[in-house]
Amino acid sequence: MALRLYNTLSGKIEEFHPLQNNEVRMYACGPTVYDYGHIGNFRTFVAVDILRRFLLQTGFRVRHVMNITDVDDKIIRNSAQAGLSVKAYTAKYEKAFLEDSSTLNIEQPLLARATDHIEEMARFVAELEKKGFAYRTEDGSYYFRIAKFPSYGKLSKKDFAGMEDGARVDVDEYEKDNARDFALWKAPKPGEAFWESPIGPGRPGWHIECSAMSMHELGETFDLHAGGEDLIFPHHENEIAQSEALTGKPFVHFWFHARFLLVEGEKMSKSAGNFFTLRDLALRGYKPSAIRLLLASVPYRHQLNFTFDGLKQMASNVEKLRNFQLRLKTGQFPSGSADSKLASETVERMTSALNDDLNTAQAQAAIFEMVRKANVAIDNGQMKKDDVAPLLAALEKFDEIFAVLRDDDAPKMKAILEWAKAEGREKDVSQELLESVGVQSLSDADIEAKIAAMEAARRARNFQASDAIRAELTSAGLLVEITKDGVRWRRK
Ligand code: AMP
Ligand code: ZN
Repeated sequence: MALRLYNTLSGKIEEFHPLQNNEVRMYACGPTVYDYGHIGNFRTFVAVDILRRFLLQTGFRVRHVMNITDVDDKIIRNSAQAGLSVKAYTAKYEKAFLEDSSTLNIEQPLLARATDHIEEMARFVAELEKKGFAYRTEDGSYYFRIAKFPSYGKLSKKDFAGMEDGARVDVDEYEKDNARDFALWKAPKPGEAFWESPIGPGRPGWHIECSAMSMHELGETFDLHAGGEDLIFPHHENEIAQSEALTGKPFVHFWFHARFLLVEGEKMSKSAGNFFTLRDLALRGYKPSAIRLLLASVPYRHQLNFTFDGLKQMASNVEKLRNFQLRLKTGQFPSGSADSKLASETVERMTSALNDDLNTAQAQAAIFEMVRKANVAIDNGQMKKDDVAPLLAALEKFDEIFAVLRDDDAPKMKAILEWAKAEGREKDVSQELLESVGVQSLSDADIEAKIAAMEAARRARNFQASDAIRAELTSAGLLVEITKDGVRWRRK
């Protein structure tokens, strides 16, 4: 059975086959590194990761490239305000993004940083100008001439007939439904960061970045291009226009778009107070594995409504899987086989669900049904030795895609705790986080009581008891000092 995927360009579900041999060449729009990534961003990155992992599981080779947008209007503005170079400003957030991705077990694609490819972008613009698709304005900026590209709108299915030729917009984001010649290259305004290039000083527009880097890494025509649904227009529409104007060939075969994540039914926004980064959730004590399972719990083409109840449910689902695996690995079962079909039918159900436009909800449902049935069998003494290996293999197959079985949440959360301390965000650290990384947080009164008990033990020359209390306090993150005047303590 072949993989069927929805293709935004055709507006249909189609069978997916790579254009060349067995290799899938795919490009995903990456983060703009001016801040920490939020869970909406990671919904899209997890969806792309699931696609990548499933392609690999199916037997394809995958050449997966992702850009890091480390120059745009916001970055230029924020870095200038912070008094930092663009590079110094973005380095921190790029690192945070890669750490967060790895916390969520997202496999790392090949990375292409915009600032490492400025020259190719300038050359791209020069070629477009030569072909009449780009024009230079007085200040030295370059724009794409939409009127010269009649199929503009074919991805977003917007009709731009009759639009004004030469109307321009130079910001990276512009209003929906309003087609304008967009900036390919922006001349620097006074005091702004810029690069020297054969087409003059300036910086690339956001759209040209992705056209230039994807074609540089994957060729003029490649298999699949991914991003969140907000990128369909104008970003991806503009990428198609630039690339196809340059080469005269189709740019991308399949367009893959993940729908947005909502929080408790609403759009995530800072002002609504429902805006969460991965780190915010970890500081509240939620495990990365539960977050990943939740982000993958709804098929990518459906809106995902993030709720804390849902997240708690996912944490318990992760435990269910891990406990089941342990139970199979450590249990003693009589020889023979009682149900040889449960594992193989589950694998079949998972695979056909994922082949069906990556129906992750059904794939998860299949594994949990298997776990439930097998647990009942174990409870009733009906599990047999020969059934164990196929069940463990089905679990592993599920985990090749969902990646939540390995019990490594604690060290990941510990790293986030250390980050919070370094950033002066101790006040956001919850009791739940401290508990999950094994640090007990004690109130001052608790500590005073323990110190008093420690002193009493010392007076009674019961040094064993006193040392035990001291060890407990030290492991809770306190410095305990014994002086001739008694015991003193402070928080580290
Ligand atoms: P950005 O860093 O803003 O360029 O976004 C990185 C990726 O996250 C893009 O593919 C966006 O489409 C995607 N994205 C942004 N907000 C959300 C959201 N609420 N839900 C899902 N994906 C999103
Ligand atoms: Zn892009």
